[in-house]
Amino acid sequence: MKSTFATLLSFVLLTVYVANVSATVYQTFDALPQNKQFDYIVVGGNIGGSVVASRLSENLFTSVLLIEAGPDSKNKELLAIPGNYPNSIPCRFHWNFTTTPQEGLGRRSIDYDRGFVFGGSTSVNGMVYTCGAAEDYDRWAKVTGDLGWTWALLWPYTIKYERFKGATGNKRSVGQFNPLSHGYLGKSKVGLPWSGPTKFDNCAMAAAKDPKSEFKFNLDLNSSKPLGLTWTQSMSGEGERSSASKAYLTPDVRRPNLHVLATSQASKKDIRTVETVTAMQEVILSAGAIGTSQILLNSGIGDSAETLGRTLATTSQRSRLVTSTQADPPLIHLRTNATLLPKSNIGNQMYGGAAVLMTPQSRGTVKIASSNPFDKPLIDLGFLTHPFDILALKDGVRTMKRFFAHPAWANYIATNISPDPDAMGEGEWEGLTRSKGAANGAVYPNLKVKGLKGLRILFSPTPRMTVPTDESFVPTGHSMAAIYILSECASGLIKWRL
Ligand SMILES: Cc1cc2nc3c(=O)[nH]c(=O)nc-3n(C[C@H](O)[C@H](O)[C@H](O)COP(=O)(O)OP(=O)(O)OC[C@H]3O[C@@H](n4cnc5c(N)ncnc54)[C@H](O)[C@@H]3O)c2cc1C
Repeated sequence: MKSTFATLLSFVLLTVYVANVSATVYQTFDALPQNKQFDYIVVGGNIGGSVVASRLSENLFTSVLLIEAGPDSKNKELLAIPGNYPNSIPCRFHWNFTTTPQEGLGRRSIDYDRGFVFGGSTSVNGMVYTCGAAEDYDRWAKVTGDLGWTWALLWPYTIKYERFKGATGNKRSVGQFNPLSHGYLGKSKVGLPWSGPTKFDNCAMAAAKDPKSEFKFNLDLNSSKPLGLTWTQSMSGEGERSSASKAYLTPDVRRPNLHVLATSQASKKDIRTVETVTAMQEVILSAGAIGTSQILLNSGIGDSAETLGRTLATTSQRSRLVTSTQADPPLIHLRTNATLLPKSNIGNQMYGGAAVLMTPQSRGTVKIASSNPFDKPLIDLGFLTHPFDILALKDGVRTMKRFFAHPAWANYIATNISPDPDAMGEGEWEGLTRSKGAANGAVYPNLKVKGLKGLRILFSPTPRMTVPTDESFVPTGHSMAAIYILSECASGLIKWRL
């Protein structure tokens, strides 16, 4: 039997929140167009989902349904305020996940934030904008054997999605970025700091401009060479957060062929079936690293092509979505301070640095707790289980100590508030850090699932899923930029049926 994912996947749609009724965003399944058939069904209103739904619906003859588990972000000022992160964002916009006990962290469970709202995590995150290094993308191309993943061919997508806005409030931003590294006509706003420079910024820049300094000034981290000290760019502009939904869905949602369904969770298992919808062309799963894994596992699709093939032969004929209801997620949102933070302090003013591991070698897993798709998945981040990660963090703390040792900071009192690897024994530092710190892939390089017709998977580590896990990696940057690049690229692959 020739199976297509569009004809086999059945979803559960779960109404968890009813927001103000909008003419263009459907709050209930019943409000959807009568025949419930669409060319494409996109699951997850995050970067991938918003970008793909927007790009596919540019063709007015293509109908697209985007399904998001969380509520609409429209008129939610708390989400729009830049820097209103993390504590001021209410729990109702989070999934409120907690990890399994982490072996590498002394068996502590930690909270794991993910946005539960239009825009996904881009509506609740720190907005820091870094694309990573050209070499990382070139390595994607090398391990996937697909030149399409080289930086040279992916870079144009940054120009496509970016709308660089400079600094807010007409602040002068000359000398704070490289104009040639940015796009100006895209949908996602990218900006420079809206306040400062503070005296701390001036000290840091003085240290960076010292010819003897190890920490050189880098005009723009987003010019594909991210090493150095510079002005932080963020995905915001004109005084507000630029979430994926605000950038891509808000302007396009009035298209008659784009249908957006809020507060509805998709999954394979239909424990309380109410309704169905059908994808005529393809289903695109973009429910984030956690949500996508959960849907696949609930569908009986494991992480190997072999499992995938076996599953397909036994699945049913129609693509379905079914609705049901569930209470709000629990409002428990405990935070763990996982940073390593030396800081200098004058009066009540403080300036801090944090060693953040952007390319961990540790690997985690997502498993389902039961066959009930509404149960929280078992998230094991595998934090600090690879020896490289602990070495890299130690090096990061030492690097920061050298940075704050520069004479530019002479008038400041610098102190470590995290364990200092040079002030304690090897085992003691590692123990304290752990107690504080937080091959056979399933898809082809064109993101199509092996052994299936009609399904693509789109989330951050997608290209690495095509290679053995020990070669898996993410670019050396915060993840948003890489996912925008991936999503714009994927939109083209889907549109042109590649
Ligand atoms: C607190 C926080 C701070 C961060 N700070 C930064 C930063 O400063 N810079 C940066 O670059 N990155 C940052 N990130 C990471 C970045 O925001 C994410 O990597 C990026 O948004 C993409 O995440 P994702 O693809 O995993 O999807 P997510 O953003 O997690 O989105 C998944 C979407 O799918 C929906 N969904 C899930 N399951 C289903 C289902 N079954 N049916 C329907 N919909 C479903 C979810 O509700 C959500 O909207 C941060 C993330 C968090 C959580």
